[in-house]
Amino acid sequence: NIPRTQQTADILPLPRPETQAYLDALVELVKRAADEIPDAPAALYLRPTLIGTDPVIGKAGSPSETALLYILASPVGDYFKVGSPVNILVETEHIRCAPHMGRVKCGGNYASAMHWVLKAKAEYGANQVLFCPNGDVQETGASNFILINGDEIITKPLTDEFLHGVTRDSVLTVAKDLGYTVSERNFTVDELKAAVENGAEAILTGTAAVISPVTSFVIDGKEIEVKNQERGYAIRKAITDIQYGLAEDKHGWLVRVC
Ligand SMILES: *Cc1c(COP(=O)(O)O)cnc(C)c1O
Repeated sequence: NIPRTQQTADILPLPRPETQAYLDALVELVKRAADEIPDAPAALYLRPTLIGTDPVIGKAGSPSETALLYILASPVGDYFKVGSPVNILVETEHIRCAPHMGRVKCGGNYASAMHWVLKAKAEYGANQVLFCPNGDVQETGASNFILINGDEIITKPLTDEFLHGVTRDSVLTVAKDLGYTVSERNFTVDELKAAVENGAEAILTGTAAVISPVTSFVIDGKEIEVKNQERGYAIRKAITDIQYGLAEDKHGWLVRVC
C-alpha cells in the first residue's frame, strides 16, 4: 500500500511520503490503538490520507510543494456477509474515470462512479457497476474484477486505466500457490458472458471485503446467474488465514507491531 500511495502522489502530483516514516507512523498508530482493535473478523480499518497544504489559493497550474499525511483508524465490523447477493451491472458505454487517472487512489474514485452505481441500483437492483468501455472488462467503482474459469484466473493486465489493487495482487499470488494458472490479459464482455454461462466464477477484490463472489450479472438488460462461488470463497479463506496468522506467511506480508 505504501508504494501505491507514492504512485498516486507522483501522478496527482503531491510530495511523495517517505517509505520508512510512513511505515513508522502506521505501526505507531496501531500500537496506540491496540486496545481498540476488535477480534477478527472485525478489524481496525486504516485509511491513510495525503493532502496538499501550500497556503496558496491559485494552485491550478502548479502542484503543492507541501503536504500532510494523516492516518484515520477506526474499528469496523465484519465487512463480509456470507451468501449475500452481489449483482453486477455490466456497463459498456461509460468509463470509471479519465483513462490517465486510473492508477490514482483518491476519494474522487468513489464519487466518479457513484452516479452510475446509483442508476444501476435504481434500474436493476444491482449492487455495483462493472465498467467495460467498448467491451474491455476493467473494474467496478471500488474494486478489481477477476474471472475464475476452471483452473485459470483471468484479469486485466496493469495499465494506466484502472486501480492497481493490493488485494488483486494478493489474490493472484495466493492463486498461484493454490495451483491456478494466472492470466493477466485483456478479455471482453462476450468472453465473460460465455465463461459464466459455462460455469465460471467471478470475484470482486478490495481491502475491506477481501473477495466478494459475484452471484449474478446484468448484461444487455438480461440477468445471468453465476452458479458457483466455491473457488472464490476458498481463495478468500487462504488470504484471511494468512492475515489471522493461521497459515504460513510465505510472502512476508505481515508486519509485527507489538
Ligand atoms: C481501492 C480501489 C480498488 C481496490 O484496491 P485494494 O488495494 O485491493 O483495496 C479497486 N478499484 C478502485 C477504483 C479503488 O478505488
